[in-house]
Amino acid sequence: MKILMVGAHQDDNEFRCGGLAHRLTKMGHEVRFLSCSNGSGGHHIMTPEETAKRRAKESEAVAELLGIQYDVWNINSGTLMADLEMRRKLIRYIRTFSPDLIISHRQNDYHADHRAVGLLVQDASYMLIVPHECPDVAAMRKMPVIMYYEDAFTNPEFRPDVVIGVDDEIDTKLQIAHLNVSQVYEWLPYTNGEEVPQGEEARFEWLKGMNITESTTDEEVMAAPRGYSVRFAKTAARFRKELVEQYGQERGSKIRYAEAFEVSEYGAPLAGAVKELLENAR
Ligand SMILES: [Zn+2]
Repeated sequence: MKILMVGAHQDDNEFRCGGLAHRLTKMGHEVRFLSCSNGSGGHHIMTPEETAKRRAKESEAVAELLGIQYDVWNINSGTLMADLEMRRKLIRYIRTFSPDLIISHRQNDYHADHRAVGLLVQDASYMLIVPHECPDVAAMRKMPVIMYYEDAFTNPEFRPDVVIGVDDEIDTKLQIAHLNVSQVYEWLPYTNGEEVPQGEEARFEWLKGMNITESTTDEEVMAAPRGYSVRFAKTAARFRKELVEQYGQERGSKIRYAEAFEVSEYGAPLAGAVKELLENAR
């Protein structure tokens, strides 16, 4: 099957569904990442041109690690707009790949680029099957399933329909973070006012934030202030009830790391082959 993950920036897909992407790829499915912007605005020292070049290299490394095709649109970050031109660009792009499943941002989000991409996917969705819209690229005959990846915003609250345990993907997810040097060791610490330790090993330990073991409780995870191990563990802690519902008490209570998804009402309902795909990805 074909799965398209659409982010605004080069780290959105990585952190929110990188584990699922890697697992589906290993199962033999075709996963593709699209970043709608080139990340140019995300640095405090490098010029936008330099940043975009460096991000492109980092994304190449991520694509290689995951075994996926990774497309980056050369549009400056901070400038994404949900206008007709962008909608048509996305309609053509989606139709050309013709995915069974699309995963992207919700619309209520702090970042204007995330909101724009969430709205673009929503605006493109019905038009995917309308032949007279963008007639130069054949319309799809079947609407894909669309899901939103997790965010922390509460008004309205993210409602997880599908929670996937990714304990066996955590090393890959941390490696993905580690490959995004210009983001995780430079730009994001700058915006958060954080000091990054010197040295490859020390900074990777700092990146994880906390050593999470079988005996770490959900309360400890939720109270931990920072780090990518913590971030991915928080999804499991936050949606423990859903994990137990979906995996059963025995497995669901033991999962340390997870990714969560809400099914969009504007795509096809989660049923049939796509539902089976996600069940097999558990
Ligand atoms: Zn982003």
